[in-house]
Amino acid sequence: MSRAAFVWVTAALAVSVVAAQGPAGRGGGRGRGVPLAPGGECPPGTTLVRVGVCQAPEWPAPSIVDYRPHSTLVVEGHPVPRAKFPVVDIHSHTGPTPQNIDQLLKEMDALNLRTLNNLSGGSGAELKQRVDYIRSTKYADRFTVFANGLNGFRDVEPGYGRKAAAQLEADVSSGAIGFKIFKQTGMDTLKKDGTRLTINDPELSPIWETAARLNIPVIIHTGEPQEFFQQPDLRNERWLELALFGDRRQYQNPNKVTFEQLNTERNDLFRKHPKTRFIAAHFGWHANNLGLAGRLLDEHPSVVIELAAILYDLGRQPRTAHNFFVKYQDRILFGKDTYAPTEFPYYWRVLETTDEYFDYYRDYHAFWNLYGMGLPDAVLRKVYHQNALRVTPGLPQSGW
Ligand SMILES: [Zn+2]
Repeated sequence: MSRAAFVWVTAALAVSVVAAQGPAGRGGGRGRGVPLAPGGECPPGTTLVRVGVCQAPEWPAPSIVDYRPHSTLVVEGHPVPRAKFPVVDIHSHTGPTPQNIDQLLKEMDALNLRTLNNLSGGSGAELKQRVDYIRSTKYADRFTVFANGLNGFRDVEPGYGRKAAAQLEADVSSGAIGFKIFKQTGMDTLKKDGTRLTINDPELSPIWETAARLNIPVIIHTGEPQEFFQQPDLRNERWLELALFGDRRQYQNPNKVTFEQLNTERNDLFRKHPKTRFIAAHFGWHANNLGLAGRLLDEHPSVVIELAAILYDLGRQPRTAHNFFVKYQDRILFGKDTYAPTEFPYYWRVLETTDEYFDYYRDYHAFWNLYGMGLPDAVLRKVYHQNALRVTPGLPQSGW
């Protein structure tokens, strides 16, 4: 008898046994089992209760936004309010203004966040104004900015690359210390001729060559998490997030571009510009597949990655992630993306401790809890600031 057939027979027997017992008092619920077809899975609204038997709950099942089980696990925990070593947040979109600077410094000091790098620096007069304000304070070593593309890379046509490169050069002389490519570039943005602007379009080459000559890094956000390109069915890990945020539904991308296609174009860009230092934001969206992240780094020696907004993937594979960080300790930068002082300590805790099964701060990212990776001090120092200082010479290089 095949294994499947054996399971099927066992299941049928189990159902008849359950049925024979029938519903009874506190034992209510028994006897409503439905057999699991060989090789199949439980029908909607039911769950596996015995080998080969599925059953529906007796009460209406709550929705996933209402089910909030509190863990009864009692285990030692070591929250980390302040990072063990000073940190560069290479991936921020926050910068100081006369209104927020005092509060910002207070929060950054408490977190041991030494330098906040604003990737939304803009370009031209807007960027210069930002840098000039920072330099007018006593805190020029705490805040830095990256420049953004000329005209948001819209309507690219022959000659754009040369003009954008000249703009970048001007922005760097105004004080930008790097260049940031937003995710729309390569995925959504159209060229003047109406076709999608691919990130490896040769028209853009002067920008990458200029960045290499000016010795500044280019941080590149490519695509979105893999699950955003898949149908939001009930197997999709990001179902709730897709249901919450319409602008993340890349399976409906009007350019019909796929996750794999975007990665291929990005990797082609990396291959064609080995002298440009690229920082792949969000681990290149490969934190759920560290083997792939490793290949990306192996194949492109001048590329580094940063860990903004992928903590939920590191914290569910603490041992694999630990080994990855040790192996690629010179290639990983710290980044957070959304500036939220209450959220940074989750990062410190995953990176520094060996705590087990603790809460994450956003349910829609992850329906699971996190574990600490327990990284050694030497690796933490590199990830927190040393790698950023090497890759981004414009960061304050002393006092670390
Ligand atoms: Zn960002």
